Order: sequence, then structure tokens, then C-alpha cells
Amino acid sequence: MITRGDCETMDRTDALAAARDRFLLPADVIYLDGNSLGALPARTAARLADAVTQQWGQGLIRSWNAAGWVNLPEQLGRKIAGLLGAADNEVIVADSTSINIFKLLAGALTMAGGERGRRVILSERGNFPTDLYMSQGLNSLLGDIYELRLVDGNIENAFDATTAVALITQVDYCSGRLHDMKRLNAKAREAGTRIVWDLSHSAGAVPVALNDDGAELAVGCGYKYLNGGPGAPAFAYLAASLQRDFPTPLSGWFGHAAPFAFDTNYRPAPGIERLQCGTPSVLAMLALAVGLETFDGISMQDLRQKSLRLSDLFWTLMDAHCGPFGFSCVSPREHADRGSQLSFAHEHAYPVMQALIDRGVIGDFRQPNLLRFGFTPLYLRFADMYDAVMIIRAVMATEAWAEPRYAQRNRVT
Ligand SMILES: *Cc1c(COP(=O)(O)O)cnc(C)c1O
Repeated sequence: MITRGDCETMDRTDALAAARDRFLLPADVIYLDGNSLGALPARTAARLADAVTQQWGQGLIRSWNAAGWVNLPEQLGRKIAGLLGAADNEVIVADSTSINIFKLLAGALTMAGGERGRRVILSERGNFPTDLYMSQGLNSLLGDIYELRLVDGNIENAFDATTAVALITQVDYCSGRLHDMKRLNAKAREAGTRIVWDLSHSAGAVPVALNDDGAELAVGCGYKYLNGGPGAPAFAYLAASLQRDFPTPLSGWFGHAAPFAFDTNYRPAPGIERLQCGTPSVLAMLALAVGLETFDGISMQDLRQKSLRLSDLFWTLMDAHCGPFGFSCVSPREHADRGSQLSFAHEHAYPVMQALIDRGVIGDFRQPNLLRFGFTPLYLRFADMYDAVMIIRAVMATEAWAEPRYAQRNRVT
């Protein structure tokens, strides 16, 4: 039986333990929801205060140049590229994930458009809803000439000569299942098509090797594992080989080759800059910049190792202490098959999660019956796993979750 003392020993020898100081966390909280909203970095408040009072207040419009505001989308893109195994000029920070899906999916469909018979947009039924909704809306805008084909089983076998584009999320938001990017890219290439990858639950959570694994198009989220703050700007990746001719559908002036030439006609920037649309959200980008700095000097391999150790420990402790209470883990057991989260199905998942949140163990609930726990190695301790499972056990053993107030549904779950 693993004791709390064992967990404390693991913390004492943890090479990433000091990274916790890069964050400000409430003392009475075990935060297992960094996969939904990353924790607040210690430096964010001061950096934003300076940005508002000095850069904006004193610098005024001069700060676009003097404080480098105008460079933020590319500068943060380079930093994210480093986390994802992409080249410096292949990632840009802009807009939201949903909007970046629209841009890349539309562009990829246009590129495939010459080929008759390729009329299928391939995705998974369990994909994050916005990915499906954006595909539906785009298809409708294009006159419903495509079929959105949603695969239930193994998407690997679904690629064929009718596939125009596939939209695939690497780490499933519900189960945490992790796709083998290299293998699927090879399948797509064999079938003469391409994949738009959604890395929302991958970026900053698992090692990603976009270039080595043959990825051409990807999007992802800034406010989850990247710690950019609520509603942080998202990113888009476009392999260098596609950039020159990539047909971006949102031809805003910030993606123009020369925005301040004020030409009448749209002429896209030659590189990744063309994936920008309008004026960047500077304050939000500065918060994301601090979020990305929390990864400075940390290897994704070390991060991954600790993530798997934390989640294995949590799972083992759940089995040992919460076995009789009806939880069943729906996440893949194999390390190679899962991201940085575990989800447990339970008949009373919603009220159980509300009771846990009330006691400082913050995860979240996902339809229809999942308690979801995210593991963020930069600020979680092994002892947190122990304490969280003890609180779960207490909530179950005392049936505290059955209080009527925990059944009340909030707008955000
Ligand atoms: C969180 C998430 C998004 C979020 O999209 P927004 O436009 O930022 O709301 C998109 N896709 C996946 C797979 C996600 O997990």
C-alpha cells in the first residue's frame, strides 16, 4: 500500500518540483483542471499591470513598435513551435482555436478541391464539439458539397480516395486517448489527403514532434496546458512547404503582405503571418507570453515522465481506496495511448464532482457521466494525488455528494 510518506519521498526527488513556484495557487486547492484552464503564473499580474500602466498608459500607440506589440503573434508562435517540434516560422498565435480550425480546414479543402471525388471531411464522432460544429458551418457555407463522415471506431482505416481532409484531435478531451500522429499522417499521405490536427489537449501536455511526424496543419489552445489565462489566444501551425500557396479564407489586413501599405487588394503575406486576420489581442497575448515562460528550461520528456507517474499514482490510489464506490476509469491504460488526464465514469459523476470542488479538489464533469482529472506536472505534487484520493474517498464514504445543492447544474461544468 502506498502511503502519503511514499508520495512525499517522490516529491523530494522530483526534478520538476521547483517549477511549482512559477505559479500562484490557492493553499487549500488541489488543481486537477489545468487541462481546461491552466493555473495563474506567478508573474502574470505584474506583467499585465506594467503592460496596462506603462506600455498602454504611457507608451500609447508608440508601444506597437517600441514595446514590440506587433511582433507578439510571431514571437509567441516561435516559442510554441519549440514545444511542438516545429520550425521557428511555422506557428503563429492568433484568434481562437475554433476560428483557426475554420481557417485551416477551409484552406485544406480548397487545396484538395481540384480532385473530383474527394468529398468527405473525416472526423471522429467523439471529437470536441466545436471541431464538428465548425466543420458543419464551413460545409454549409460551401453549399454542403461535402459529407462530414464521423468515425466511431479506428479512424486509421477510414482514409480513402474520397477523403478531402481529416480533422483529428490528438488527445481526446473525454477519455484522454492519444493518437499516434506519425502513423495517422502516413495513412493520410498514402490516401492522398491531409490531416488538420487539433492539439488543444496536447500542447504543453505531451511531447509533440510536428515536423518529424509529418504533420502539415495544426491548431491548438492557449488557455489549457499553456497557462495563457481564460480565453487566451490560440495558435496555428502550417508546415513551411504549404505556406506560400495556402489559401486562407479570412483575408484580414493583418495577414496582408504589407498591412500598412493600405492597398485596395488583398495580397497574403508569404509566410505564416498570413494566418493572422485582425489586430492581435495584445493584453491577452502578453498573458500567454508569461504562460509560455513557465516552460522555460523544462524538457518535454521530463514533463511527460512526471505526467505519467502522477496519473499512474492517481489511478493506483483510486483502485486501492475507492474501489467499492463504483468508479471505472475510461482512459487507456497504456502510456503510449493516453495524454495527461484520466477520466472516471460514475453514475453520480456530476454531484460527486461538485462535492469535490467544494472541498478543493478541482476537476470537471463531462457528459454523460465522466469525472475528468488533468495532470499538470509543472505544479502538481505526488502528495497531491494522495490527498485528492483521500478526499474522494471521504466524499463517497460519507455520501456527502448526495446533498441536493450538488445536483444543481451550472452553465460551465
Ligand atoms: C478546448 C478545445 C477547443 C476550444 O476551442 P475554443 O475556440 O478555444 O473555444 C477546441 N478543440 C478542442 C479539441 C478542445 O479541447
